[in-house]
Amino acid sequence: MMKHDYGEIFEWGLKDGKVIHIDNVENGLACNCFCPDCEAPLVAFNRQGNKRVNHFQHKNKSNCTNSYETALHYLAKQIILETKSLTVPDIYFSLSSYAQSFYGVTHTSERKINKQILKFDKVEVERSEQNFRPDLKCYINEKILLIEIAVTHFVDPDKREKILNKNIPLLEIDLSEFERAIQKDKLIEIFRGKIDKMKWVYNPKIKERHQFAESKGAIVKNYISKNLDSHKIYGKDHNIYDCPIYKNIYDKIKVEDECYRCRYFVGEYQGVYEIGDEQPKFPDTTLECVGHKANEFDKLLKSVGIKIKE
Ligand code: SF4
Ligand SMILES: [Zn+2]
Repeated sequence: MMKHDYGEIFEWGLKDGKVIHIDNVENGLACNCFCPDCEAPLVAFNRQGNKRVNHFQHKNKSNCTNSYETALHYLAKQIILETKSLTVPDIYFSLSSYAQSFYGVTHTSERKINKQILKFDKVEVERSEQNFRPDLKCYINEKILLIEIAVTHFVDPDKREKILNKNIPLLEIDLSEFERAIQKDKLIEIFRGKIDKMKWVYNPKIKERHQFAESKGAIVKNYISKNLDSHKIYGKDHNIYDCPIYKNIYDKIKVEDECYRCRYFVGEYQGVYEIGDEQPKFPDTTLECVGHKANEFDKLLKSVGIKIKE
């Protein structure tokens, strides 16, 4: 955006507390608009036949350079205030039915993101929440959701800390793509479900879901670590002769054909040393699984709410 003595030129001004596009106001000072940022009077240049694109500029000399970003903030807040609605990411956590996914990883649960349409009973603009001033404070019944509109300034660790202490959900909407041009219809599109532009800085409900899933995962992980059994893998063909599941049907099975897609498979090792060992823990190629406890393992999965894919 071009700069001159009268500050930047821009397409959105402030009229009666609302942002308004240059095409929808009277020409000149009669537009009765003010700069969204410094609140100084604006002149509208939108007469038909103008050589330059329609634009506002400050009436008087100005160093104001932030009108664009402030207008975007205003418009975003205005849309949510008027529609009282927002489609947000809703995050769930699921646990796999495969023993392997519980072993040697920090998180046992897998994130799944859905969309959730929220309808607000009330929306307030920039109401202080004790020592924190979010862009929007939205109410659903008695519950509060805070919204931050980010263009160039995103929620910093200090703000994040404040919100964690309050235990109130805070959603950040990333509008940095509009830094140079504001398009109202694109903004509406984001608020109606472009959830990749949204981030939960904090959400106690989602955090609780995560902790719940992880606690179930820890039960399974603990069971596996106490019930692992090892099976020697033979030869170039990678055969196993003592598979607890197939031993009555086949005399041998091939690891690649059966074990890698088996729910009870945990891992495959060769020559792993543990601290202090002179000999490797697994001198031969070895596979670990919980196949010998198949029924018990399945029951455990079901007891913690994991659906088993047969
Ligand atoms: S992982 Fe499955 S197929 Fe392989 S040995 Fe264990 S129970 Fe058998
Ligand atoms: Zn200004």
